[in-house]
Amino acid sequence: MKRVAILGSTGSIGTQALDVIRAHHELLSAEVIAAHSNDALLERQIDEFHPPIAILSDDAAYSRLSSRRKFPSTKLLGGRQSLIDAATFDAVDIVLTSMSGFAGLEPTIAAINAHKNIALANKETLVAAGELVMRLADECGVKILPVDSEHGAFFQCLNGEDRRAIKKLLLTASGGPFRGKNQSDLENVTVDQVLAHPTWNMGKKITVDSATLVNKGLEVIEAKFLYGVDYDQIQVVVHPQSIIHSMVEFVDGSVIAQLASTDMRLPIQYALTYPARIASTVDRLDFWSMQSLTFEEPDLETFRGLKIAYEVGRRGGTAPCIFNAANEIAVGAFLDGRIKFLDIYRVIEGVLDQQPIIDRPTLETLIVENNSARSLAEKIISAL
Ligand code: NDP
Ligand code: MG
Repeated sequence: MKRVAILGSTGSIGTQALDVIRAHHELLSAEVIAAHSNDALLERQIDEFHPPIAILSDDAAYSRLSSRRKFPSTKLLGGRQSLIDAATFDAVDIVLTSMSGFAGLEPTIAAINAHKNIALANKETLVAAGELVMRLADECGVKILPVDSEHGAFFQCLNGEDRRAIKKLLLTASGGPFRGKNQSDLENVTVDQVLAHPTWNMGKKITVDSATLVNKGLEVIEAKFLYGVDYDQIQVVVHPQSIIHSMVEFVDGSVIAQLASTDMRLPIQYALTYPARIASTVDRLDFWSMQSLTFEEPDLETFRGLKIAYEVGRRGGTAPCIFNAANEIAVGAFLDGRIKFLDIYRVIEGVLDQQPIIDRPTLETLIVENNSARSLAEKIISAL
């Protein structure tokens, strides 16, 4: 039995992870479930899964649930520190980091320090602190198992391969809802248009990131740290059908790809059960009904989020952390209707222009720089 802590159990990835646990309750158990503010859903999850520990990191949400209910076999904890501690409980074998944003960094580091393997969905952690997190994981002998579908694909393509034989990582991208559009088409797009992703159903923040291609940029940086390649070895390939989840080109010219239907329960399950590969109920690919698989170059001029990601990645130091922080604030402002879609790029560029970059940051430095970038982004937004 593998005992799982799900940090972010009420989100898109978290609820699908619980689907996987429900389907394989003989192999997997939810030992800790942690949410931020959705006390109603966490309550239903406690009633179904009876985890020994459940957490609401938002204080108001914790007060609401703890004053409303007592649970016979679940200890309910509240506050940010409980979330950080959640990952370190003895009874946990693997921690799924499925909370969104930079808020995932400290709990992930706590889990690694406690020698827990990580099923990593929270890509912002690796973007903001890739060097530090990978070094720590190495020192602690902890596995970082990717949940992101593209990185899960790389992981499968690289099974049994020597990493030195990698020529290129071919990172596929659907292109998002605005593939083929130009700048003027995008000036006035609405939140609803942005949230209508053509192939994946995900949380709001990552769906906006998919439309700007910032998500693909975050994934480039995530891939760099997970697989230790240079940025020149990561090539983004637009593949609108999202059937090939990514590919690896090897030094001999062979390319190995991983294909599957677009269902995140598959990479979540593989990360949780690895090294075992077990049955699942995800839709099978039907090669007779599949019409074609097509490939295009990404448009880096219209979707400059991807270009900026390569630049901050190559610059290193706190640059990716600042990029991520500015993007988180800009996406929040776009979802609240405070800025327009293309302003997301303007906010990111404004913050990167103004905030100095620090090399070899410690965790403390990253936390300070993340906060400064967020404040600067807010200032730029108010002046737009
Ligand atoms: P959602 O927005 O659907 O869910 C986010 C989860 O994080 C919720 O459980 C939420 O709790 C919790 N949360 C929000 N803010 C905080 C906070 N400050 N502290 C602690 N927990 C918090 O996001 P997704 O599931 O879509 O994405 C989660 C992560 O997985 C992201 O990093 C994303 O990039 C990554 N990912 C997602 C994919 C997908 O298909 N969705 C694919 C690949 C990667 P509550 O709702 O209770 O407030
Ligand atoms: Mg992805």
